[in-house]
This record gives sequence, structure tokens and C-alpha cells, in this order.
Amino acid sequence: MSAYRGGILMRNEKDAVLENVKRYLRESQNIVCVTGLRTVVEAGGIDIWDRDNLYRIEKEYNASPEELLSAGVFATKKEKFYDFYKKETLTQIPTPGPAFYALKKLQDVGKLKMTVSMNIYGLEYGVGLHNVVEIQGNIHSHYCPECRNNFSPEYVRDSVGVPVCNKCKVAIRPGIRLFGERVRNDLYTAAAQACADADMVIVLGTNLYGEKVQYVTGHYKGSRLVLINDKPHFSDRYADYVLYGRTDEILPRLVDEL
Ligand SMILES: [Zn+2]
Repeated sequence: MSAYRGGILMRNEKDAVLENVKRYLRESQNIVCVTGLRTVVEAGGIDIWDRDNLYRIEKEYNASPEELLSAGVFATKKEKFYDFYKKETLTQIPTPGPAFYALKKLQDVGKLKMTVSMNIYGLEYGVGLHNVVEIQGNIHSHYCPECRNNFSPEYVRDSVGVPVCNKCKVAIRPGIRLFGERVRNDLYTAAAQACADADMVIVLGTNLYGEKVQYVTGHYKGSRLVLINDKPHFSDRYADYVLYGRTDEILPRLVDEL
């Protein structure tokens, strides 16, 4: 039975949820974590999807982030694509904070079997997590479509206009999935299978409503789906346990005694 019954949790109820989740962490041996956008914001990144930024972006670029980061704009208006991409995704690169070190601890004690990242900053690799599935790709990879050489985010960010491969002189493309591009089914399948096999799933910093999160966590059949997110959302009822607050405060507290 869920300890969460809708509405804001009372203080003692929150403590009870914390204790339950700690116990499950001790008992579970096959945990999958899903990292969402709030973990990036807590680590110093920009949330281009928040209302203020959406408004600013619309005004500044005359288009939405979906449009600007689309395969169509990349194919036909590379200047426009890279202007946005460099300024909005490569100038404020987050660095992993306490939430990611807590995940590393879960890995070190042998409980964390996979991390499914919904983000593009590779924060999971920054702390040495091994089994990471990045649904959206990663800003640390930019490659030349001709020679497949890899280029760093700094190389791309500091180039003037459209970044080109220094050997082939053709435009480099980012390693993230662009809007309108096909999803990598192999990645989804691996993530969904890991959730199906897991004895506990922890979703960090995103609600359960998004299509990608739903698809992945929907395969989990247990009763230890824990959600840690900043604010309530109607989809929270799909979680067995919900904790509201910063993931970089709550998760370290939960794994502290392991
Ligand atoms: Zn090249």
C-alpha cells in the first residue's frame, strides 16, 4: 500500500516515507534510477523548458526550443541551430553534485544496476557510474559525419558560427537526439527491461507524466517505485512513495546509512 495518499505530506508522514524508503534501499539489490531535468538544474544547468525561459527564448530566437533543436532546423538552418545550441546548452554546463555522488554510492554497494538519464549532460559519467542509458544522447559527443572524429563541447562552443571538422571541413553534428529524429529503440528496450527486472525504481527530478519516463518505468511491476521531485504533479499517484524537495538533499540522506 502506498504511504502517499494525495495532497501535501504532513511532516510525520514524510518521515515515515523516508524510513520506508531507507528500509527498501537496504533490502533491494537491483535498483534502477531515472534522472530527470531537475537534477540538471540543481547541478547548475539551465532549464530551457521553464516558463520564463520559454518566453525569453521565443522572444529572442523567434522560435520554441523544440523547433530550434529539431532535425529540420539542423538540416536547413545550421547557423540558427548552432546559435541557440551553443548559447543555451553549452555555455552553462552543469557539474554533478550530491545527488550523483549518492548514486555512485548506490553503485559502490552493488545495488544500482542501471541509471537511465533523460538528460544530455552526462552527469552520470562525471561521478563514474557504469551502466548508464542516455535516452537523448550526450553533449560530450559531437562528431563529423564524414570521418566520425569526435569533438568536445568546448570546441563546438568556441568555434565561430557553425562548427566544422578541421579535416573534412564539413559541419559537425551534436550527439544528442534532435526533435523529429527517431528514438533509439535499443536504448528504450534496455531501460525498460532493466525496470522490468528491478526490485526498486527511483525516479529523480522529473514527474511520471512524460512519455519517455512513462514508457521506461511502466515496465516495473513491483511496489517500490519512489519518486523524488521538487513539486507535486497529478501523475505522482503512479508512484508508490513520493518525496518532495531537492534530489541533492533527499537522496544523500537516504543512502547515508547504507
Ligand atoms: Zn571529419
